[in-house]
Amino acid sequence: MAKSSPYPIYAAITGPIVLLGFGSIGRGTLPLIERHFTFDKSRMVVIDPKDADRGLLDERGIRFVQQAVTRKNYEEILTPLLTEGGGEGFLVNLSVDTGSLDLMKLTRKLGAFYIDTVIEPWLGFYFDDKVSNAERTNYALRRAVRKEAAENPRGRTAVSCCGANPGMVSWFVKQALLDVASEVGVDFKEPAADERRRWAKLMKKAGVKGIHIAERDTQRAKEPKPLNTFWNTWSVEGFISEGMQPAELGWGTHETWLPKNAKLHKQDGAPAIFLEQPGAATRVRTWCPTPGPQHGFLVTHNEAISISDYFTVRDKQDEVTYRPTCHYAYHPNNDALVSIDELFGAAGRIQPTHHVLTESELVDGSDELGVLLYGHDKNAYWYGSQLTLAEARKLAPYQNATGLQVSSAVLAGMVWALENPESGIVEAEEMDFRRCLEIQKPYLGTVKGTFTDWNPLTDRPGLFKEDIDASDPWQFRNVLVHER
Ligand code: NAD
Repeated sequence: MAKSSPYPIYAAITGPIVLLGFGSIGRGTLPLIERHFTFDKSRMVVIDPKDADRGLLDERGIRFVQQAVTRKNYEEILTPLLTEGGGEGFLVNLSVDTGSLDLMKLTRKLGAFYIDTVIEPWLGFYFDDKVSNAERTNYALRRAVRKEAAENPRGRTAVSCCGANPGMVSWFVKQALLDVASEVGVDFKEPAADERRRWAKLMKKAGVKGIHIAERDTQRAKEPKPLNTFWNTWSVEGFISEGMQPAELGWGTHETWLPKNAKLHKQDGAPAIFLEQPGAATRVRTWCPTPGPQHGFLVTHNEAISISDYFTVRDKQDEVTYRPTCHYAYHPNNDALVSIDELFGAAGRIQPTHHVLTESELVDGSDELGVLLYGHDKNAYWYGSQLTLAEARKLAPYQNATGLQVSSAVLAGMVWALENPESGIVEAEEMDFRRCLEIQKPYLGTVKGTFTDWNPLTDRPGLFKEDIDASDPWQFRNVLVHER
């Protein structure tokens, strides 16, 4: 790395770097790795079954392996690549259809670092009709990773689910909680990064009933989406997979009503429930600063469960006394919205053509991604990143605003891992949110918090009788858009 680089170098990666997956997020993460770490470029390898963007690697002299990593071949392929030449390697998993848990176990065995942005199962899992809906939830995927983390604590750091969401939004939740606690006048001292119980108690004390991961993507494409194609601003495969999983949410202690098709998990104290319907066909009422009130999709995400779990308060008998509801409320960009509508309109038939819109195919707009902490004395507070496409283009190459919110979280997660090398398997809630946001913020556009007096009962009921609970606006019963 040239000494004259204007970018801070955060750490040295002493072993090989393996970038698994070179799609929209992999491409965007590459320049951030180049800017912010010292490493031996001759030992960097990118693996992807598709070679559409290998030109970016060829021009840098970075080795490319065109191959799908599978359950059968992952050990054989990755072991030499992560250990060649010594030092401590780093596996940066930004692919789809690769088993995160197996990959973490392997890297930890090899003494290499690991990071991903989602718990990926191996190819075939998401659409396996022999797997029950309960098993297809993120609760189940996360449970397996948490079990491994608990059974094998400490050891080489592997960061699970560290993109924008899941990932960055868990750091936002902590900042937002401190802001809300101050504003509602709670007497408190900021808990340390590893004081989970104190963070949970603070959430309870601040009177937060729940949290939406409230996102609005307004990035507009130059061309209109043709029929029978799925366009998105990030992985189409990723969005379809999670959108076809059951709608799922962390289930708070203030909820008094259960949807008719809600299912509880058989494990005692499970922090989440799921609905017997796909997340991308389930809408919820939410709020973001620019659009104000909006409908979002209740697509399942790891953070819905990890945030509810992390902020759970238990008494001495281990009974849950407090837990916030938490779920995603995602308004994707218009092309993705129309793509989803087309897919469900055709009884779930997936379009044959998939496309991720690049920064040059988009004209303008922004990704507004934050957390809405609701139900406290000041009603609701949104805290998040408003990153425009124009800003993203200036800040870093090869990505749109959505991509940069993700790749910069990967950067922050990598730095944290290198600074905390023996932390075992961790999620974003367990990391130092101040340090992570310090690294990430230069890439997030405007980061701000704003209170709102909107609630899900605002302007309701309208012309039609609705199933609402007027006694508490922040019941999930009022948040869920009941289809008729
Ligand atoms: P993408 O679809 O653009 O790219 C995925 C890449 O993985 C493709 O290039 C594909 O060829 C490659 N791939 C497929 N099978 C593979 C295999 N077996 N081995 C190696 N590579 C394989 O997706 P993306 O937008 O770059 O997203 C990458 C991952 O990041 C996805 O899992 C996605 O869900 C996740 N993601 C997380 C967040 C977050 O905020 N946490 C946000 C966006 C994306």
